Amino acid sequence: MAGKSTRRTPQRECIMEILRQGQAALSAEEIWQAARKQFPNLALTTVYRNLENLTAQGLARRSMFSDGVTRFDLAPRSHGHSLICLGCNRSIPLPDCPLHALEQELMRDTGFTIQDHRLEIYGYCPECRKK
Ligand SMILES: [Zn+2]
Ligand SMILES: [Zn+2]
Repeated sequence: MAGKSTRRTPQRECIMEILRQGQAALSAEEIWQAARKQFPNLALTTVYRNLENLTAQGLARRSMFSDGVTRFDLAPRSHGHSLICLGCNRSIPLPDCPLHALEQELMRDTGFTIQDHRLEIYGYCPECRKK
């Protein structure tokens, strides 16, 4: 079951790489043209099938543009922080990331290139506090 759609083929890796390098969203045909430099025999249907799988797995994002063309790009990295209630396990997303300024400062001070971070805040929500 799990095997087929998640199989990592060189074609699939190539399509991911094209999406990664793309400055803008690309149509399946554009991705196909780019991928054929590496895989001359690649069929357009294979590109479509890989794009379907990548989209289903949340790695790629499909958008319909105003010109009626469906284009693909990498799914935005999900980045967010939450308040998590220890009483009811509810998680309340924070409206934005409070750490970007700190990242800038750390990069300047340490020379470290920061890729990502995690932050979760635990406590009790107003409802649970009432109990
Ligand atoms: Zn709670
Ligand atoms: Zn953050």
